[in-house]
Amino acid sequence: MTSPSTTLAPPNHALERTPEEWAETLGSWGEPRYRGIQVFRWLHQRGVFDPAAMTDLPRTLRARLEGEALAPPLETSYVHQSEDGTRKLLLGLGDQRTIEAVLIPMKSMAPGEGDTPEDSEGEADEAPRAWVTQCISSQVGCAMACVFCASGIAGFKRHLSAAEIVGQVMVGRTTLAATDERVRNVVFMGMGEPLHNYDAVARALTLLVHPDGLGLSKRRVTVSTSGLVPEIDRLGRDFGGQVQLAISLHSPDDSKRSEIMPINRKYPLAELVESLRRYPLPKRRRITIEYTLIDGFNATVADARALARLMRGIPVKVNVIPMNPVADNPLGAPSWEVVDAFQDALRAQGVASFVRRRKGDDIAAACGQLALAGEKKKVRVPLPVTS
Ligand code: SAH
Repeated sequence: MTSPSTTLAPPNHALERTPEEWAETLGSWGEPRYRGIQVFRWLHQRGVFDPAAMTDLPRTLRARLEGEALAPPLETSYVHQSEDGTRKLLLGLGDQRTIEAVLIPMKSMAPGEGDTPEDSEGEADEAPRAWVTQCISSQVGCAMACVFCASGIAGFKRHLSAAEIVGQVMVGRTTLAATDERVRNVVFMGMGEPLHNYDAVARALTLLVHPDGLGLSKRRVTVSTSGLVPEIDRLGRDFGGQVQLAISLHSPDDSKRSEIMPINRKYPLAELVESLRRYPLPKRRRITIEYTLIDGFNATVADARALARLMRGIPVKVNVIPMNPVADNPLGAPSWEVVDAFQDALRAQGVASFVRRRKGDDIAAACGQLALAGEKKKVRVPLPVTS
């Protein structure tokens, strides 16, 4: 089963239709249902939007599809290349706004940062490739106003549509087409709070993991949230806990967490932790806890121990992220000694933890650095047109 157990909100763009919805539409035109999968594959698997190029469809159907205005949802794109292989994509939306997505080669990760053994469990052996993690955005701007993050500075502008979310992964694939690199993991860790845009994100998830589309593995798609409790429950229900969940925690102390993450006033830690206990996590899988280390604020050994206590009984792995610099923001990362001591303290409590070394920060592509695109200083490299 690839569809969530509850009904999705209706599609608003041809790219958002599932094969089943395409079959309905085409059925109403008098076409056999299997044509739905064919059209879906052209769009999602091959990235072909021009009906004239859909060669296995009858000519009459191709002509009718011309009327559906099948167009890629993201219009222009540029690539900023980092010295470490990370690439930041600037993507133009139909309304002239711009969003960012990041391609992060997994081989540039430090030891221990990549897969944990259970991440690959049960997956068929595939030809060795250079795997890439793509970080995508779910909104233009963000309403959460976390004090350490660049994405919220300009506030919330609008939600992205499911087509705009899936479109980012399609552009990612096109960008890598001429290389041996392939997008294998997708993380909703770009701009925006994905669970604040639940309907579009749920539809995008359904499309991204569809075997006739981009065919990502559910466990390789991570939804990262600042902690919207009702939507965490909904995600768990709709996708049976299969989608990887990441929680931005950043402090085990309620009053401190509220200081840096206003959402904590609405859903305090006790409620958030309860929702993690309820999450229908499959066996041998773990919830990811993101913990941005801010110098002098949340980085002591006592904080690490309190975090371990808070997570007791919940299968988690902690990603420790030394705070990336944000312009005009005085907060910063602690020294590496402090980072190591924090990680050691977590491990001593039996909590798996990985330190995320900064990637792509020379192009402002690291966690929390994606912002509403203003003038960019780096050279812009135009992308090749779709494959
Ligand atoms: N809204 C989602 C996705 C946000 S970004 C969420 O809150 O989870 C992904 C991660 O980057 C989050 O854990 C976020 O807290 C973290 N982050 C934000 N700003 C950062 C910064 N300046 N340095 C390091 N991590 C940061």
